[in-house]
Amino acid sequence: MILIVDDKPENIFSLRSLLESKGFQVDTALSGEEALKNVLKKDYALIILDVQMPGMDGFEVAETLAGYSKTKEIPIIFLSAVNTDKKFITKGYASGGIDYITKPVDPDILMLKVKTFYRLYEQTLALNEVKKRLQQEVESRKQAQEELKIKVDFLHMVLETIPQIAFTVDSNGQITFVNENWFKYSKSPVDFPEVHPEDTLINILFETHIESGEPFEAEIRIRNVIDKTYHFHLLRIIPLKEGDMVSSWVGTFTDIEDQKQVENKKDEFLSIASHELKTPLTSIKAYIQLLERLVKQEGNVSTYIHRAQDQVIKLESLIADLLDISKIENGKLKVNFVSFDLENLIGNAIDTILHTHEHLDMVIEREGEPLSVEVNADAIRIEQVLINFLTNAIKYSPGSEKVIVQTGINDGQAFIKVKDFGIGIPKNKQEYVFSKFYRVEESSVKFQGLGIGLYICAEIIKQHHGTYGVESEEGKGTTFYFSIPLN
Ligand code: ADP
Repeated sequence: MILIVDDKPENIFSLRSLLESKGFQVDTALSGEEALKNVLKKDYALIILDVQMPGMDGFEVAETLAGYSKTKEIPIIFLSAVNTDKKFITKGYASGGIDYITKPVDPDILMLKVKTFYRLYEQTLALNEVKKRLQQEVESRKQAQEELKIKVDFLHMVLETIPQIAFTVDSNGQITFVNENWFKYSKSPVDFPEVHPEDTLINILFETHIESGEPFEAEIRIRNVIDKTYHFHLLRIIPLKEGDMVSSWVGTFTDIEDQKQVENKKDEFLSIASHELKTPLTSIKAYIQLLERLVKQEGNVSTYIHRAQDQVIKLESLIADLLDISKIENGKLKVNFVSFDLENLIGNAIDTILHTHEHLDMVIEREGEPLSVEVNADAIRIEQVLINFLTNAIKYSPGSEKVIVQTGINDGQAFIKVKDFGIGIPKNKQEYVFSKFYRVEESSVKFQGLGIGLYICAEIIKQHHGTYGVESEEGKGTTFYFSIPLN
């Protein structure tokens, strides 16, 4: 719609007729004030404004219109009796079109200008619409980006708090984030940790799975940058998807070195245990075959019966140890507390050792104050500990002349030490000898054993609220000790 502003109704009439005859919709105002009221209420594509009017003149009206955001874009054609200097035109009137027509109005010129401005106005409106939509688009993208950033920051924060090594990778396989733990295994935030030469490289693992977009995991050894050793880790990588597309991957390395070692120890233990159990059984079988033959000839059978018995005792003690292990694992290793004399127990244990080691070529000496005291403990279990210490002392000191049993009372505790002069235990291995299935590598080939005796001893002493330990020097000998409270 076009607004004609003129204080003379006859001017308005002729202009209106002209414009309406060309198909334009027209509105009118007889003063500047009325024109301003109209523009606030309605939308106009063009204003034809008489300059000389009583009250507000045309320039003042234009200046006011330039101040409103709603009207500042509307093009204006001034109708002026005289050719007015353009410098009077309001400053802020920047974007709207402005033109002049001097009176008397030439209808053809006026129509040309009206059509041009009308088109201009329509184009401005269309442009504004596009601009608005673009702005909305930019806004919503900005918001989406901010939301994404919050999510990514949250993910990174979570990855920082977990005990594993964690990282993210973009859809091209480039590392985009690593947590603090990463630097224990890689010096650079963009390079994967060094993998054991026998394991598959992480990049290759990744490349083979990136196509499928499916999560995957693998057990690999990676190298610690500080101690330079390889540790078994479980590598787990999962895709993060936006719709159907994988946008990035989140990966973790979980340290499974201890687990692996326990698994290896268990496998090793099973193979040793079956071997150990088989040896006495094979001997028993052989002796029984011999006995059978001798019985037929009615010869002297007692030597073979004795040997078979020895092997049965060995087998019995192996099986007892295995049973103890399973009892400890189920929390069922119970101790029966009764009062007894410790010195008697030591005597019995030494007798048992001498009895079971027929050809022993060393002596068992006693040192220290005799333990003629009553203790409240499980006599069978305490004797088992002492027999175990003595058996080990003899086993791991071939060729030496003696083993010493040293006793005494200290701080309300009765202590017993078994000292040998054998092969000793390397310093860095001493802390492990009471662990389940542990055997010192250096001696495990030469000496038979399951690596469970000391573990059971430690459990028994713990149940008595006592203390235990080892002191040793390689090549010189070892002292195992334990103590139990007197009351
Ligand atoms: P094992 O059946 O192997 O002897 P133990 O649990 O009794 O099992 O002992 C664990 C390991 O501790 C042994 O394998 C051995 O390496 C070491 N050990 C135990 N006693 C002695 C000792 N008196 N001297 C040297 N090494 C010992």
